[in-house]
Amino acid sequence: MPKVLFPDYMLTFRCIGNECEDSCCKNLEIPVNRDTYLKYKRLEDREFSERLVQGMEVLEASKRRSDQYAVIKLDEATGHCTFLENGLCSIQMKLGESCLSKVCASYPRRSNQVDDTFETSALLSCPEAARLALLNPEGMSFTYVEAEQPITIGARMTTKLPSGIPYAKYFWDIRTFAVEMLQNRSYSLSHRVMQLAVLAVALDESCAKGKVDQIPHIIQRFRDQLDGGGEIAKTETFPTDLHFQFKFLNALLLLLISAKVSNNDKYMECLDQYIDGIQKAGDGFSEQELVRYYGECRRNYYDPFMAEHEYIFENYLVNQLFSSAFPYDTELKLFTKVFYMGVIYGLLRMQLIGMAACHERLTADMIIQLIYSFIRNFEHNQNFKKVLLEQCEAGNIRTLGHLSLLVMESDAMEDSR
Ligand code: SF4
Repeated sequence: MPKVLFPDYMLTFRCIGNECEDSCCKNLEIPVNRDTYLKYKRLEDREFSERLVQGMEVLEASKRRSDQYAVIKLDEATGHCTFLENGLCSIQMKLGESCLSKVCASYPRRSNQVDDTFETSALLSCPEAARLALLNPEGMSFTYVEAEQPITIGARMTTKLPSGIPYAKYFWDIRTFAVEMLQNRSYSLSHRVMQLAVLAVALDESCAKGKVDQIPHIIQRFRDQLDGGGEIAKTETFPTDLHFQFKFLNALLLLLISAKVSNNDKYMECLDQYIDGIQKAGDGFSEQELVRYYGECRRNYYDPFMAEHEYIFENYLVNQLFSSAFPYDTELKLFTKVFYMGVIYGLLRMQLIGMAACHERLTADMIIQLIYSFIRNFEHNQNFKKVLLEQCEAGNIRTLGHLSLLVMESDAMEDSR
């Protein structure tokens, strides 16, 4: 049996079936891999084969990949998978579990392969997985287990052969240090995100100059700075601007929502609460007054809860790093990966502040609902990341300094200017 690296929450995860508040067959883009699509198309049972093909939409050629060849159509009225009958999967009933597409057979598990080791985590669009992964105050830890070979639907990479990834040789050094940075509770979480972003820029620069073997020295330099109170250990190194942060992220959220076709009910609840919370500021407020009100809501409701529960977002970010096989990527710079994670963190935090303003309190349940439904609503869409990055680019928001403005929290004095 191969070795599989699991975050500890995966060892206890079980689908809760009927008790789930948001079935995975609803309002989710369900990709079908090429082999499964062709298998469905060639079924001997021509009537069922025809029904399957009619119930799927083959992706445009430019978006097609072997593991994402088509998507299952959703019922327009209910948002449910078109093959769901009386709460049961008709494909599984008729053809058996072995004929399910890779995503249906493995959801919410996501597995990557690094050399001969598999890594399995969960997509946090599953609310039960999100609860287990995020609500652990001890932080996320990882365990090797001898297990059945998982269905690999994520990244496959090698750190040994020439792989075209410049930093492949130092994959584990970067990965381990990145998790260590995100879990270093000596710093606020937004500060940790920025420290990771600075590291990503330094690593990108060394790769661009062909100085890949500098990577262990760069990591050691960062360790020394964190231990010795160097520049990246100081909050004042990173600029803040609550006005810019709220204005840009709010506009970005509205753009992302307007670009979205179908919407998840649970996410819409969160969005309504966010809007209600922000509108509690009242009519006729100037932009400055609105930002001041937003800052007050953060101080009154968000900060007190997060002082005890910041581990929820820490676990979210560590899971993102792990499940995306960080630092692996075929095209993006490491900074772009951290930038994307930071912007999503900023968007989630802003929505929670509005939701907390609406209820005049914040709870772990509200955070879980927002995180899982946001991922469901947006991040399951193949184009979402591209659209978000393009919007940032269009607003000329692309540097370390910009990320700091979007992520770092300004202090109470500054908010009340
Ligand atoms: S979303 Fe998760 S808990 Fe809910 S039905 Fe799907 S796998 Fe089970």
